[in-house]
Amino acid sequence: MSTQKHYTGLIERYRDRLPVSASTRIISLNEGNTPLIQLQNIPRLIGKSVDIYVKFEGLNPTGSFKDRGMTMAVTKAVEEGSQAIICASTGNTSAAAAAYAARAGIKAFVLIPDGKIAQGKLAQTLMYGAEIIQINGNFDKGMALVKEVAEHAPVTIVNSINPFRIDGQKTAAFEIVDDLGFAPDYHCLPVGNAGNITAYWKGYTEYATDRVCSTRPVMCGYQAAGAAPFVAGHMIDEPETIATAIRIGHPQSWDFAWAAQKESGGWFDKFTDEQILAAQKMLSQYEGIFCEPASATSLAGALHDIGSGKIPEGSKIVCTLTGNGLKDPDTAISQCAAEHPVTIEASLDAVKRAILDCL
Ligand SMILES: *Cc1c(COP(=O)(O)O)cnc(C)c1O
Repeated sequence: MSTQKHYTGLIERYRDRLPVSASTRIISLNEGNTPLIQLQNIPRLIGKSVDIYVKFEGLNPTGSFKDRGMTMAVTKAVEEGSQAIICASTGNTSAAAAAYAARAGIKAFVLIPDGKIAQGKLAQTLMYGAEIIQINGNFDKGMALVKEVAEHAPVTIVNSINPFRIDGQKTAAFEIVDDLGFAPDYHCLPVGNAGNITAYWKGYTEYATDRVCSTRPVMCGYQAAGAAPFVAGHMIDEPETIATAIRIGHPQSWDFAWAAQKESGGWFDKFTDEQILAAQKMLSQYEGIFCEPASATSLAGALHDIGSGKIPEGSKIVCTLTGNGLKDPDTAISQCAAEHPVTIEASLDAVKRAILDCL
């Protein structure tokens, strides 16, 4: 029998930087270790000399970075004897919570906004067998309810207000530095609840403090124009955007995200749904990388700030692609309405003509 130690996920990999002990039962689906892909065509297309890398978090087990936080949060919930977890979600947190609860053999309750969740995320959550509570209200309303109900019921909250979520997610920054051999100059992220920007900053800071890297990146947090409380400078009540994963008006990690922005010398900005979808399409068409709409906000922001010179030429930039494009097939298909395939006659002539017309 082989005694070789196999890679089992991010808790094993970064065990000495995470709050687990030798006896902790690790709840893992081999998450993390996602590819850092250098863009080849887009920098040439925009005529700028920059190195842009995308951290493709859509390749985690449930298709988003939420798995990084969830392996930690569910591991700790189980260690503390919890029999059930609960979260409010725009979709990806519920998919991750449901999967890791299934793996652990405990119950998951998820509150989702009625009708505003992408199809892929709903399909996953149903299949993993979570108890879905659909509410007549948005994410922010669901989050408020979850906080209240957790005071009255024996359930562990696994939203990013759970500090173990942040600990799990900080490992993405470790992986980037381990891959590159240094920290990037700029790190661009979509921002919703702002747990992820908080987690990356924590990870980079830990590595810099321990001199694994000598610098930390400037943190650039990008929001959807209709859901941009960090740009407004205050919470907003009716967030709206096609990028449902960041359709959030009352971010839970408000103070931490401002600290990351200030300490790193970074900034927040906002982009329209059209700009976000254009970046999503560009990444698919020119690089072969399909992320969900919210994820493309990081690239939309990076391209805008490279174009304006705010991010200078010669920079090394990492954009996190938070979720997989397959999560939201409806938005992708409707975006490509003009390119919908036309049906032709099933003959050699007709197919030949169709090909020659395109060349
Ligand atoms: C959760 C999520 C975000 C936002 O992350 P926050 O930590 O809430 O800022 C962005 N994109 C996708 C795909 C997500 O699932």
